[in-house]
Amino acid sequence: MTRTRRRRTATGARWRLVTGLVAALALTGCTAATAPAAPTGPPPTPQARQLADAVTLDGAVAQLEALQRIADDSGGTRASGTPGYERSVDHVAGELRAAGFDVSTPTYEVDDDTTLRNVVAQTRTGDPGAVVVTGAHLDSVEDGPGINDDGTGVAALLETATRLGGSPEIDNAVRFAFWGSEEDNLQGSTGYVDGLSGAERDAILLYLNADMLGSPNGGYFVQGGAGDGRSETGPPGSATVARTLTEELSATGVTAETIPFVGDDDAPFVEAGIPTGGALTGDADRKTPEQARAWGGQAGEVFDRCYHSACDDLSNVNRTLLERYTTAIAGTVGRFATGAAERPSSG
Ligand SMILES: [Zn+2]
Repeated sequence: MTRTRRRRTATGARWRLVTGLVAALALTGCTAATAPAAPTGPPPTPQARQLADAVTLDGAVAQLEALQRIADDSGGTRASGTPGYERSVDHVAGELRAAGFDVSTPTYEVDDDTTLRNVVAQTRTGDPGAVVVTGAHLDSVEDGPGINDDGTGVAALLETATRLGGSPEIDNAVRFAFWGSEEDNLQGSTGYVDGLSGAERDAILLYLNADMLGSPNGGYFVQGGAGDGRSETGPPGSATVARTLTEELSATGVTAETIPFVGDDDAPFVEAGIPTGGALTGDADRKTPEQARAWGGQAGEVFDRCYHSACDDLSNVNRTLLERYTTAIAGTVGRFATGAAERPSSG
């Protein structure tokens, strides 16, 4: 704890220095070509930088190892309705309670008249009328342990949540959501959004979805603002969420590509008119030669050869991608948590 605090202080000092440099460059850069107008997200605050610097790959991998152990003890799967899913719920809720969050496990109904649990954790600080929501699905398919899909999203969010803590100094509240039944028509996230009152929906500033962050031959993808029609682009403000995540990925040294939404757990939030972004590294599509040149990896090969298979285990995770996305998600959550108490503008 002491070590973390000391590091955070040093990070704060470094950020102030960087801010000064940027300001100096801006003053001397008036003759540079003007970039096209783009929606701007909240600025990188010291708190956001501290959070991005605090998260670690080791912390995220420890969560992946826990999910793998749960699958190993549960017949090789964490699919909704199986013991592996129930153990995943208990593990995630326990981690978040230990980190000081206000944790609940709201239920949703599935087709056969039974109820299952999502996990939802919110900071005790920040304006509860202005909430930054980020989510990942906690279930796997029946055929495998689901460590890349979507253990990596779960791990990145748990690492961000535990480093943030339940009572950080923030302006807007932060809610971490772990959905069941994504692999069964998004029943967990859909049931949750359907169950919110109008006021509860209005209180959500934005939603950021994380689904598959360590595809072995993966790419750096962001969703929000790209495509045709609202189901692909998300509602107004979504491009701002995407741009903020893109900037945070850029700070880790990579240029992300923005692609349309395809109807993951982002869909119910998009339908509810909430500005939405997505973080993903690709599933069964093939990497193009251009993408391989930009990011490395094998052109012509699928992003995740173990997608929805038994081999989606601990060995099926590209740790470089997972580390960058964990850092970028922490930075993005931190920026919106310390930004204005209003939905991101459409620029
Ligand atoms: Zn998934």
